[in-house]
Amino acid sequence: MLEKVPVTHVAGIGPAKTKALAELGIHDVAALLTHFPYRYDDLRIRPLLSYADGDRVRVQVTINGSPKLRWQNGKSILQAPVLVDFQTPAYAMWFNQHYLQKRLREGEVVILQGKWSERYRRIAVSHTEFGNQRLRSEEAAMYPVYRSSKQISSPQIAAFIQQALAQFQDQIVDLLPLELRQRYKLVNRYEALLAMHRPRTREELRQAHRRLAFEEFFLFQLQLQRYRVQAKLQSDGVVRHVPSDVFEKFADALEGFTLTDGQYDAMQEIYHDLHSPRAMTRLLQGDVGSGKTWVAFFAAYAMVRAGWQVAMMAPTEILAEQHLLEARKRLEPLGVRVALLTGSTGIRERREILALLAAHQVDLLLGTHALLTEDVEFARLGLVITDEQHRFGVAQRGTLQEKGERTDILYLSATPIPRTLALAIYGDLDVSVIRERPKGRQPVRTYWLRSSEEDKAVRMVRRELAKGRQAYIVAPLVEDSEKLEATSAVSLYEQMQSHLAGYRVSMLHGRQSAKEKDAIMRSFIAGEIQALVSTTVIEVGIDVPNATIMLIYHAQRFGLAQLHQLRGRVGRGANASFCILLGDPPGDVAKQRLETMVGTDDGFLIAEKDLELRGPGEFLGVRQSGLPEFTVGDLARDLNIMQVARDEAEKLLQENEFWLLPVYEGLRKHLFEADSAGLKY
Ligand code: ADP
Ligand code: MG
Repeated sequence: MLEKVPVTHVAGIGPAKTKALAELGIHDVAALLTHFPYRYDDLRIRPLLSYADGDRVRVQVTINGSPKLRWQNGKSILQAPVLVDFQTPAYAMWFNQHYLQKRLREGEVVILQGKWSERYRRIAVSHTEFGNQRLRSEEAAMYPVYRSSKQISSPQIAAFIQQALAQFQDQIVDLLPLELRQRYKLVNRYEALLAMHRPRTREELRQAHRRLAFEEFFLFQLQLQRYRVQAKLQSDGVVRHVPSDVFEKFADALEGFTLTDGQYDAMQEIYHDLHSPRAMTRLLQGDVGSGKTWVAFFAAYAMVRAGWQVAMMAPTEILAEQHLLEARKRLEPLGVRVALLTGSTGIRERREILALLAAHQVDLLLGTHALLTEDVEFARLGLVITDEQHRFGVAQRGTLQEKGERTDILYLSATPIPRTLALAIYGDLDVSVIRERPKGRQPVRTYWLRSSEEDKAVRMVRRELAKGRQAYIVAPLVEDSEKLEATSAVSLYEQMQSHLAGYRVSMLHGRQSAKEKDAIMRSFIAGEIQALVSTTVIEVGIDVPNATIMLIYHAQRFGLAQLHQLRGRVGRGANASFCILLGDPPGDVAKQRLETMVGTDDGFLIAEKDLELRGPGEFLGVRQSGLPEFTVGDLARDLNIMQVARDEAEKLLQENEFWLLPVYEGLRKHLFEADSAGLKY
């Protein structure tokens, strides 16, 4: 399998490029081959006449004299007369590329890319191509652009991918059964990869895309449904004998807070599931701040009262710790014995917890994916709860579930998935929805300001800080570059230090270590930090009721679902909260997104609107929907493919001989290997 072949096996990739690829997260040949372009550029050469002043041009020129080099403020400027299209005299200028002086010989024909100034008849060159590097015109029409870095450029990556495709063609196995491929007219995997990396026509790219999206969804569905179909075959769930006083007792532990109707209904549904002989697989959906944790705690409490243990997994340590604090407050008084296990639990403590767990002296084990390790053994695990379920891979949820026999399952999700999408993805999973927020919450007041009104926005932030409240300042989203994003957060942080002088400001971005991020989040929770400048890495699910204002820079760059998730960090206490969107939308769709945000804070409405606005053909990441991140498939566009993949996966799994037929060997292996794979992202 190409997952096991390191990139060093590709001819031409040496130690330096191996390292550069590793920094992009590419270690093996399989990852290299699925490092797809995020854009295709039209690099066909056109006559100068077809361009206007100020355009980025791509033209053919003849060097028409010897290049002259001069220096200005430590920067080099190379200039040479050229003849564009063999006829039009002009100048070419290269900044900081003095090494080209020797290569640019008079009479040589090269391709230049850069900005054209009509007035000075000059091209400010950004890219030079010599004869031996010239693209064939069919490649130039849709030239792939890859996520790259300083150490390795996009064209270099393209070359390595082409090399790998040639070298490993025989080992690119097609996981899709031939029968399916024929029925849906899907091109084979090799052809699809070839077309993704070097499409010759739009149609070829579309077919490649369709095929890979199908494959991705199909494998996802197989994994998702495997446990469910097996559980069904295995016989039914267990009847949990939950005493009926659980509602009353649990309500007492809430110290006077009243449950919302949605919370109460969900609790009822869970109670019935536990009593029924059918195994529970329930998704609890509720907008950010709707109070899913308490419902989950109720499920845990009911289970414990029936004599079983419960595991609750969260995607980050901070969230797991937050659960612990809340569980101490709500569940320990009810006699539930609670413990926490994360990656930073000390060895001795860990050993103690595991012993208690095996002896059934811990009832509720909270934690991160540290719960998944093999030596975590329960005496009598009855229920598995996954918070922020979309942050975990399907296989991981399965692993935890298999630590018990016929365990019941409760997934929590803040992603308000529209119904069509939920059906396509989960099929027959039961869903409980919490629609309202706890009483006494005020809606977050949302404003959209132009970036020229930044002063006003900053004044609003200062006003909240002066009241002793806390603020989130969100830095612009930079597509495809965590590094640039970090840089923009750093510069915003520097600005904020003067804008918010006198207050304690700190910052959070994706390039910090997990430890650093944790420490910063903790001091924000503790109120030591008053304003937090951050990229979108702000924890999902984090609950800081004292944070009452969020200021989002370049809001037009974010997707709707993402803006809504971000906004959910404020408005979690009794005080009025604000969200200020700062941005100048370039078009109608972006404008509608901001207007939608101002107009409503109903997550379900927003999710519907999001799907509507993200029309077909838009290459948007699924990241924004909060669902598992697919590489090729886009749920907004490929929903019908997901539906077909779901039905086909179900059909395949219901045929008992599935595991035995040799044609499915590849698939089977793939599923088993996915089980041992690490966190999805
Ligand atoms: P989420 O659904 O986003 O996970 P949480 O469970 O973190 O939301 O709840 C958000 C906040 O609301 C928490 O501080 C929680 O204690 C509080 N809360 C939950 N339910 C209620 C309720 N019925 N009444 C008042 N406050 C509540
Ligand atoms: Mg939560």
